[in-house]
Amino acid sequence: MSDGPRARARTVRPAGALAAGKDGCEQGAAARVARTRDPDGELSRAQAVAMLEDLSRTLRDRYGTSDERRFDTARRRALVIPVRFHVLAAGRTGRLSKAAVKGQIATLNAAYSGRTGGADTGVRFRLTGYDVTNKAAWFHHPRKYQSRIKHRLRRGGRGTLNLYTAAVGSDVLGFSTFPQWYRKSPRMDGVVVDYRSLPHGSYRRFNHGYTAVHEIGHWLGLLHTFQGGCTPPGDGVSDTPYEARPAQGCPHYKDTCPQRGDDPVHNFMNYGFDSCMRNFTPGQGRRIRAVWAAYRAPGHRRERSRARATGSVDRGTGGAGAARSVGGRR
Ligand SMILES: [Zn+2]
Repeated sequence: MSDGPRARARTVRPAGALAAGKDGCEQGAAARVARTRDPDGELSRAQAVAMLEDLSRTLRDRYGTSDERRFDTARRRALVIPVRFHVLAAGRTGRLSKAAVKGQIATLNAAYSGRTGGADTGVRFRLTGYDVTNKAAWFHHPRKYQSRIKHRLRRGGRGTLNLYTAAVGSDVLGFSTFPQWYRKSPRMDGVVVDYRSLPHGSYRRFNHGYTAVHEIGHWLGLLHTFQGGCTPPGDGVSDTPYEARPAQGCPHYKDTCPQRGDDPVHNFMNYGFDSCMRNFTPGQGRRIRAVWAAYRAPGHRRERSRARATGSVDRGTGGAGAARSVGGRR
């Protein structure tokens, strides 16, 4: 159980839990935190249901169907996501080398391809940018300055992952936006993780680089496996069994809900120690690809020309949402 600073768990903050930025941007974030029970920190059932409904509606609007299997046709072709990696530092502290950053990218690719023991989600990551910003205030208070940081450093369109490292804190290890929020707050889109959580970092039990794997799972549209407890729709994924509460530490076995299946204690979208995490399920892979098709795949012509006009096209990778698309557009 979690009763000390070492026992970090992950939870999701609702969109309204964080202060709105000066620009009025919604700054909610899916956060990985140490508190086992954080009443403000969990996405409510209503919010989760609304996000899942938004996904179905968006898929129907764009493709005429919300059947996720429809977007699985391109499984044999990987979805390669360009990553703009922004290192925040205070002098030497937090100044991650490019080698460390590449180590994190390799870890992402191992986790999302199934090489750590789970399903191949069909997602891969390619480092397309690396920059270091030496600004102590930003480094030490990435939440407080989140809006300024992202406005200054963010690059690319809806299909570019902007990944930031900073001293997120001893409780919270990282936070992310959901794809459903992109429409409203495109500039806030991205993932922030603690620099000590990277592979070989100094966070004991959380230094395999799986904080980034987990947070990027949110950025790709996945909810926690314990979302909603035993109450449907849970995380809305058919092959992640319901569980009443998050895994803490590394339980060998847990079965907390009456529905079929043991708790997915080793899932990346749970709360275990890094050493306990090892898999995504095939259903989570399908969900990611459906979410990509709905929110992050190259958009309609109007969206593309607007992106060019505002300079938000990631020229290094060929266009807004430049990662290779999924499924067929109709
Ligand atoms: Zn989370």
